[in-house]
Amino acid sequence: MLDYDLHCHSTVSDGLLAPATLVERAAERGVKFMALTDHDDTGGLHEAAQAALLHQMEFINGVEISVSWRTHTLHIVGLNINPDHSGLQDGLQSIRDGRGARAVLMADSLARSGISGSLEGAYRYAANPGIIGRTHFARFLVEQGHAKDVRSVFKNFLVKGKPGFVTHKWALLSDAIQWIVGSGGVAVLAHPGRYTSGRKPMGRKTIRELLTDFVALGGRGIEVVTGSHTPEQFAEFAHYATEFGLLSSCGSDFHGPGESYRDMGRLPDFPLECRPIWQAWESSR
Ligand code: AMP
Ligand code: MN
Ligand code: MN
Ligand code: MN
Repeated sequence: MLDYDLHCHSTVSDGLLAPATLVERAAERGVKFMALTDHDDTGGLHEAAQAALLHQMEFINGVEISVSWRTHTLHIVGLNINPDHSGLQDGLQSIRDGRGARAVLMADSLARSGISGSLEGAYRYAANPGIIGRTHFARFLVEQGHAKDVRSVFKNFLVKGKPGFVTHKWALLSDAIQWIVGSGGVAVLAHPGRYTSGRKPMGRKTIRELLTDFVALGGRGIEVVTGSHTPEQFAEFAHYATEFGLLSSCGSDFHGPGESYRDMGRLPDFPLECRPIWQAWESSR
């Protein structure tokens, strides 16, 4: 079992727990080393780091950056970043600036399908309005009885071809990696098994092209063990890690009790061939 959890969310993005509460939960569940990786915002890192000290847990600063690559939306996790780096902060601010206008368009789309009040409804779930996103809309849709839980919202709403979806231009892959690396961090491709081409999982050819670009731009890691991967996908992405010379990362991608594939806590071990991502910063300390 791995007692590292390097991907999770607090109320600073679309998680349900405040940073300190999240860290406490992780500690109770056996995590010894964690990173908080809120979407496009580092506002929870100070509180989380303080809480980690209290629980004698090792903590590193993280973030999960929203990226557009070709027609795909990707998530790039930055680990061991310096949140005070101005290039990183300006970049994250530029992403947050786009989220408000996108939310208005999402609400318009839902209204055309007969669902009114979703903009105000979603903001009620966004403790940090700067990071308004699909999860907040999903919670509103559950509240209004349009789906039984957050996960099933994403079958009928907020995804391509369904009410509430809008195409959006996120950061460039090159910029996101540059912000992370420029601040002293390592860039990790998040949950690679979740990306799709149309209705199908992203094909091998596209994954190889993506990983080729990612490595060429300075990416160093890939999530092999993540909450949404099956054991078969642990093996599959361990192979890609080896093929592309990438370090392997692990994280629950926990958003809140009852809302996630996996809770905080022990994650299954990496396949044997993996080199863990913490080699990247342990060797430099
Ligand atoms: P956004 O950045 O606003 O597009 O929102 C993306 C977030 O929506 C992800 O980080 C997840 O928290 C959530 N999400 C996306 N797809 C799903 C899904 N199939 N099930 C549950 N949550 C999802
Ligand atoms: Mn999320
Ligand atoms: Mn993600
Ligand atoms: Mn995430």
